Amino acid sequence: MQPEVKVIEETNKTLYAKINSCGLTGINTYKIDIEVDISNGLPNFIIVGLPDTAINESKERVRSAIKASRIDFPSKKIVVNLAPGDTKKTGPTYDLPIAIGILITLGLVNPEYIKDLLILGELGLSGIIRPINGTLSFAQYAKKSNITSLIIPWENASEASLISGINIFPAKSLKEAISTINNIKTISPLEAKLTSTQITSNKNILDFKEAKGQRLAKRALEIAASGNHHTLLIGPPGSGKTMLAERVPSILPPLTQNEKVEVTQIYSISKKIKDLNSLISTRPFRSPHHTISTAGLVGGGSSPIPGEISLAHKGILFLDELTEFQRNVLNSLRQSMESNEITISRSQKSINYPCDFTLIAACNPCPCGFFGDSLKKCQCNIEQIKRYIGKLSGPLLDRFDLQVNSKSLHENELLSSLIEESSRDIAKRVIKARKIQIDRYKDHSNFYNSKLPPTHIKKYCFLNKEGKILMAHAIKSLGLSGRSYTGVLKVARTIADLYESENIEETHLLEALQFRINLNIENV
Ligand SMILES: [Zn+2]
Repeated sequence: MQPEVKVIEETNKTLYAKINSCGLTGINTYKIDIEVDISNGLPNFIIVGLPDTAINESKERVRSAIKASRIDFPSKKIVVNLAPGDTKKTGPTYDLPIAIGILITLGLVNPEYIKDLLILGELGLSGIIRPINGTLSFAQYAKKSNITSLIIPWENASEASLISGINIFPAKSLKEAISTINNIKTISPLEAKLTSTQITSNKNILDFKEAKGQRLAKRALEIAASGNHHTLLIGPPGSGKTMLAERVPSILPPLTQNEKVEVTQIYSISKKIKDLNSLISTRPFRSPHHTISTAGLVGGGSSPIPGEISLAHKGILFLDELTEFQRNVLNSLRQSMESNEITISRSQKSINYPCDFTLIAACNPCPCGFFGDSLKKCQCNIEQIKRYIGKLSGPLLDRFDLQVNSKSLHENELLSSLIEESSRDIAKRVIKARKIQIDRYKDHSNFYNSKLPPTHIKKYCFLNKEGKILMAHAIKSLGLSGRSYTGVLKVARTIADLYESENIEETHLLEALQFRINLNIENV
């Protein structure tokens, strides 16, 4: 039987073809040109350009898919080059572009518009096109590279269409892909969908007005939200630590369009959302259990996938019962608390995932939970308390700019008819304070006070004479380490921003100093 595809005119026939494709590392993409060269000689089919095993197996899939499409596979010497040659290529996403390249050299696919196409897809032996991972990143790459159209697996079309300004041409089989490319000028592409989804649908209705009392903790979380400061809540069971933490997303500003794409890319790669058909529009709130592994928290696996710190990108990572996490997990967390990106190293290469999260952690003050509580007596001895608190090593504790004691609520607070401030009202102040930071740091890549590098502390956290005297006194009396000293300055900067004050005043420093807890048990 003859192939159903139309044979292109003889004049267009070429023995060389170049197809645009694209590689993926983390959520980042890079250009890959797929060159196909066919010449007379001993029949052979080789792929060069640092392919991995999956790509080498591509030969068998491409050969079978072409045959299954009722096209004779050429008995010639076929060389496929994945350029650039010095970058390792992984995965089966290049099957479809390799097959299309071969079919161009056979004169079965029209190469006229090929330079405007980005082609990706895995082939099955029967010629079907299988879905691929990371479509959103690929569509984003096409847009940035001024490639107008995308030929991708049918199942990925919905996800690709989340990026506007790209013509999406989905295909279910190799035969369909051939027909689409040959008739590209007469086929209507899929329209971009500009819908968004909420990943925290049950959380987004949570409101601070439902949380009674806890004035100090609420204030700390408002400051945390305003300057992206990591925050530790220490208090007895039932003091509402989780309830407060869960409400932080409700006072954060909405995600920007770029942030939506970035967050969705991470969820796309992690396969955390089935049938991803809209951009994620709410800030993530992740609360992994304390039994989580290091790989689960920071990312890992043989083909590394993002961990919880990346799934919390641009949102909140909530770690309840912080002292119960394994020490090595806490160590890996500590290292990622100050950067916006995590590097997962493998023998062959390293993968970076974004992880710009704000950590809210909670723990009890002692094993029984009631050390220092005014309602219930602590049952622990000093040694037990020391061992328990000792799990929060100095370097980890220092990285929490805000540390708050959340006390048990008294009866009168629980029964109070006082109307608590709503998340909406708190968010107004947070958004204003964030705007001030975005304007102030517009020439830098870091937008928030918490991420101020040491070189910029002096400039942006300038203290007047009174402020310097106050801080010198605080260093002595509170035993502040260098890191906690700058933590206090950064928090004071955020407090000043909340008051729309250009300078850090003494009152801002005093408020910031309230949020340092001395965990040295002998001093309590
Ligand atoms: Zn106790």
